[in-house]
Amino acid sequence: MSIISYRITPANPNAHLFEVSCTLDDPDPAGQRFRLPAWIPGSYLIREFARQFIDMRAEAGGVAVNIRKEAKDVWRADPVQGALTVIATVYAFDLSVRTAYVDNARAYFNGPSVFLCPEGHEASACLLDIVAPAGDAYADWRVATTLDTNGAASHEFGRYRAATYDELIDHPVEMGDFALAAFSAGGMRHEIAVTGRHDCDLERLARDLARVCQCHIDLFGARAPFERYLFQVTALGSGHGGLEHRSSTSLLCRRDELPARGDNGITDDYLHFLGLASHEYFHAWNVKRIKPDAFSPYDLSRENYTRQLWAFEGITSYYDDLALVRCGLIDVSRYLELLGRTISTVLRTPGRLRQSIADSSFDAWIKFYRPDENSPNAVVSYYTKGSLVALALDLTLRRARHGSLDALMQTLWARYGGAGIGVPEDAIERIACEMGGDEMHVFFGRYVDGTEDPPLDALLGAFGIAWHLRPSSGANDRGGKPATGTLPKASLGAKVGSDLKLLHVYSAGAAERAGLAPNDVLVAIDGIRASADAINALVTRRSPGERIPMLAFRRDELVSVEVELLAAPLDTCHLALQTDAPERAVALREAWLETA
Ligand SMILES: [Zn+2]
Repeated sequence: MSIISYRITPANPNAHLFEVSCTLDDPDPAGQRFRLPAWIPGSYLIREFARQFIDMRAEAGGVAVNIRKEAKDVWRADPVQGALTVIATVYAFDLSVRTAYVDNARAYFNGPSVFLCPEGHEASACLLDIVAPAGDAYADWRVATTLDTNGAASHEFGRYRAATYDELIDHPVEMGDFALAAFSAGGMRHEIAVTGRHDCDLERLARDLARVCQCHIDLFGARAPFERYLFQVTALGSGHGGLEHRSSTSLLCRRDELPARGDNGITDDYLHFLGLASHEYFHAWNVKRIKPDAFSPYDLSRENYTRQLWAFEGITSYYDDLALVRCGLIDVSRYLELLGRTISTVLRTPGRLRQSIADSSFDAWIKFYRPDENSPNAVVSYYTKGSLVALALDLTLRRARHGSLDALMQTLWARYGGAGIGVPEDAIERIACEMGGDEMHVFFGRYVDGTEDPPLDALLGAFGIAWHLRPSSGANDRGGKPATGTLPKASLGAKVGSDLKLLHVYSAGAAERAGLAPNDVLVAIDGIRASADAINALVTRRSPGERIPMLAFRRDELVSVEVELLAAPLDTCHLALQTDAPERAVALREAWLETA
């Protein structure tokens, strides 16, 4: 089998350009084709990475070779004798965890957005030379990646390698003058590389992440499935996101989410970051190795359909926060607050009653990843509702003493993930039925393939946790806590932006019934100039059934409507420990949260 030699360098940081080359010793005698992925695993949207390839040339033996496009993401070079090299210039200025970025402070890339795959060589071994940008200004730059080295010293530029193209593109690379910390979990070295300006207490972060990682390793009960692991963190003024890889993750967060020196508490901001890191780390098992049959292997040229994203994202979302309470970083009441927020988010989405989480998984490519003004009415998040279905599945199995989601995940690992076999579309339901009996088919029919809300109030009650619902107190009320301040009596049935534009008009709500539409801008409410205060007064001082005249601009046309207020929905949840819970409930709860 031949070897493919890649080279990448931030050739012109100020112009945000990588130069990327690919050399093949034995190109197709009929003319070698090269393909660039259209999407990156973990982010289910066709992104057309080839958009940012600004030029492409080819050469063999120092002589230029003609190369032309055959499709939006495919190039073919003319037949040559001997080795063929293609050289591309790639524009990289997307500050996300999905593509690539270069400026004079750092460079970062994900393989799918920069590395061409020579067709027919998907299984060939790859060498990669990562070359520093030219100039003294970059003398302090180092490299953070979990690619295997093939000569490059630790954290240095030089030669790396990958067994296949698939391995090559699953190891993002960070270059720059980043801060570095390390810790051990499960006997494996873990590193954190933080780029961007920040004042993070790295030792604290390493201590806390070690507990989270150990908790996930312990769940699967075996050696972690990687030799080392890297958290690549980009700290910014705003932004939040993560993408999972087999032995690393790229995280993007606000610098305020990182723990400050001298602060031993866990702020809501830091908790948000810990949840993200925990989520992506759990993916090293769930989706990177326990992965849908439809992703085994990935076809990166087109959509890969599966009805299982709810399991890979929803179950992962369930375990991300659960690990924080199980490892003792937060207490049970803090965990219940997080759970209450997630429940509130889902209850505020009418689309959960229209689309199942299995359908949402299948259509992720055109719906969840492409939200618009009607998404809350038509689309359910397989992350948030998926995490609640995972919770319901766990509590259902535990309440009946028929096992747990932990045991189900261990079975998935033993049968599929650890064995390198893709998970068939019906496998999770089948394992649940092996554990919980045929009635688990009913569970999947209702909550996974159907659109019913899982009965979390009753399930949590059996674990000594009380469920409370109330109206939302306003835009900043995320739920998870009892009410503060005056609660609204009435509802307008729309989400209104700070510029008084209607961002979402909810199905069958007061605004929709009155004829208001998304993007309408409120001008007057009952003869008074519209404002955030006027809207707040409307829902707290007026009553359901009252008819309120309103004026709004639709585009540049004034429209007049009469809105009949509806009752404020009970869409905000908080959970509380029952002080008088029976012993059985307490025992179930302690076994679940492993706090005993
Ligand atoms: Zn995820």
